[in-house]
Amino acid sequence: MIRGGTVVDAGGERVADVVVRAGVVAEVAPGADVPVGATVLDAGGCVVAPGLVDLHTHLRQPGGEDAETVETGARAAALGGFTAVVAMPNTDPPVDSAAVALEVLSLGAGATCQVAVAGAITMGRSGEHLAPMGELAALGVRLFTDDGTGVQDVAVMRRALEYARGLGVTLAQHCEDAALACGGHMHEGEWSSRLGVPGVPAEAEELMVARDIALARLTGARVHFLHLSTARSAALVAAAKAEGLPVTAEVTPHHLALTDAELAGYDPVFKVNPPLRTGADVEALRAACACGTIDAVATDHAPHPPERKDATLEAAPPGMLGLQTALAVVLAALGTAGDGRAPLSPQAVLALMSWQPAHIAGLDRAGGGDQGGPVEPGAPANLCVIDPAATWEVDPARLASRSRNTPWAGRVLTGRARHTVLRGEPVVVDGEAQR
Ligand SMILES: [Zn+2]
Repeated sequence: MIRGGTVVDAGGERVADVVVRAGVVAEVAPGADVPVGATVLDAGGCVVAPGLVDLHTHLRQPGGEDAETVETGARAAALGGFTAVVAMPNTDPPVDSAAVALEVLSLGAGATCQVAVAGAITMGRSGEHLAPMGELAALGVRLFTDDGTGVQDVAVMRRALEYARGLGVTLAQHCEDAALACGGHMHEGEWSSRLGVPGVPAEAEELMVARDIALARLTGARVHFLHLSTARSAALVAAAKAEGLPVTAEVTPHHLALTDAELAGYDPVFKVNPPLRTGADVEALRAACACGTIDAVATDHAPHPPERKDATLEAAPPGMLGLQTALAVVLAALGTAGDGRAPLSPQAVLALMSWQPAHIAGLDRAGGGDQGGPVEPGAPANLCVIDPAATWEVDPARLASRSRNTPWAGRVLTGRARHTVLRGEPVVVDGEAQR
């Protein structure tokens, strides 16, 4: 029983206790009786919500177990309030066959959150020949992406979209024109010139966003834009949506919170792909979250072991951890006033982090899954209890991830998942993983 919280889901907000029995929500009512023998989770001052769903998690297994495993990544996710993550396919080998997809799914079967798998669009993510998308779709794969790179060849992307449309699956694009981005280590702009570091122009992303919007129009297939980072990318998506095209988009917590000025110390912890952009981009992305242009916040959790990440800015791989800090970073960026904007309601923030991503990934009820709520009798008990006022200091050594590359080390954040319940099992209680 989860007692004394405010239940927030797509349907609204109400003060209620939530009784869970046999993995299913049995009762949602204020002042519910405590069932005999029940475990009581205190939710005083907290929000009780459908579990968070991450569209974009790098679990690194198979092949990158020194950085993360399905088990450690899933534990980090549960501690962050997530009850489901979509594992990106840029593993070694990549998820371009049923065998590798099945391997990741079986590793995720006993994890502390649901592990869904995204499949590669092309064999070896090399952008040439289509992966066996039909075979992968038959295993339940609903998102396909070559994430890490975008599909460069427009004819290959068109064929992939035509194929995806027939299968009813979504292509998720890492928008980056490789030739234009080549050799860049940060955003190309005032800071890259000042620091003398080769940059990636915003146009490297925006060209592919514009191209894929045209392909969505041509094929009628669904396109999801991964980790958009610029104001013009958001504007392109807004225009495509106004036209009625089937496109969705996500941003990361770090692109809502940090700018390229963070690179002033050449610290590779701030090196990500797409790179941190300007303050104007951050403001535009926050506004795009508020007005519905952006559908989801996704972590792009990208663990790297210290021996690889603690290198020069040029040599270090891009990416930062995100699962355990996402909620606090997003609450600070969107859920509090501070720069003249109206803060987003808890319901609006949770829409971006729970039921909207669950819908895009096909993990909600409409997609045959059990994520994203609503919190009502008979619904599967995938829940998180969020204490929006809890303050905590990020200690990289205490994160569940195998890697330590967080830009928030030593910083005090506000907002934390207090309890996480996966199909009725309390996998996180009072901020502690139960297994
Ligand atoms: Zn990417």
